[in-house]
Amino acid sequence: MYSVRMRASKSGNGSADGEHVCGAERIAGHQDVEHEVQALVNRAMSHERGSPERVHITIESIPTELIETFEALPTSQRVAQTVHEARQIAIQCLVDVSVSERAALNAIQWLSKGPNPLGGVMRGAIVMDADTGVRYEPDLSRGVRVNKVDWRADVRQSFLQELANTPLASERILEALAIATKVINTQGTVAELCWSDDPSYVTGYVASAKDGYIRIPHLKKHGDPLGGRVFFVRNVHKFEEYEQALKRPALIVGFNKPLLLGE
Ligand code: AMP
Repeated sequence: MYSVRMRASKSGNGSADGEHVCGAERIAGHQDVEHEVQALVNRAMSHERGSPERVHITIESIPTELIETFEALPTSQRVAQTVHEARQIAIQCLVDVSVSERAALNAIQWLSKGPNPLGGVMRGAIVMDADTGVRYEPDLSRGVRVNKVDWRADVRQSFLQELANTPLASERILEALAIATKVINTQGTVAELCWSDDPSYVTGYVASAKDGYIRIPHLKKHGDPLGGRVFFVRNVHKFEEYEQALKRPALIVGFNKPLLLGE
């Protein structure tokens, strides 16, 4: 199998990496690599965050025996009418799984003002102490990136078929659910909070082992170009080991149909 990764950026925030435009992860068999590369290049070149100045594609072989397999987190959905209401729900979902209110508020504040201290968004995620709200990433403008994660092709197809006509049947959800599943299964993670940096996509989620993947609409205003991910952690004594674990290859090999859609 091969890990195929794309990262697109443009100049803008003063960091050596440039400003993040978009990125994506795939795991593909030898015969599908070319097709995946083409799809990822198309995506980078037509992204709503603007034309990239650099597009990096990485293709790396991964021994099949090193690939971990996971069932996707169970999904559910909450209802919110306003950004304020949505963020209150997100805080409650985080507190319900033992993230402190202080850390939850801190995370919301970072994502809403732009998680990159140099301005704007990051290409990776914030890693935050679930109790104190302190950030752990060594490079605060980059964050940490989850690598080498995807759905097994047949399971991706069944997900799209079985959930057709629901808001879950989309590439965006498949990617987010794969990342969340891997992050939550990484030792040390307590929960994840995410909303997209795509200006037109305002639904985000809170994920945890206890409550699964909870979609929350209106986590930001339509047109807002800021967003990001926060991984809340506890008892992570060696940050490098946590970061390495996020880069181990993982495939999603099963899922449960959502029971609470539209709750
Ligand atoms: P997206 O949901 O693709 O709009 O991504 C929103 C934000 O999540 C990005 O700006 C990044 O900060 C972060 N992000 C996206 N993909 C990853 C990943 N694979 N690992 C860690 N953080 C990511």
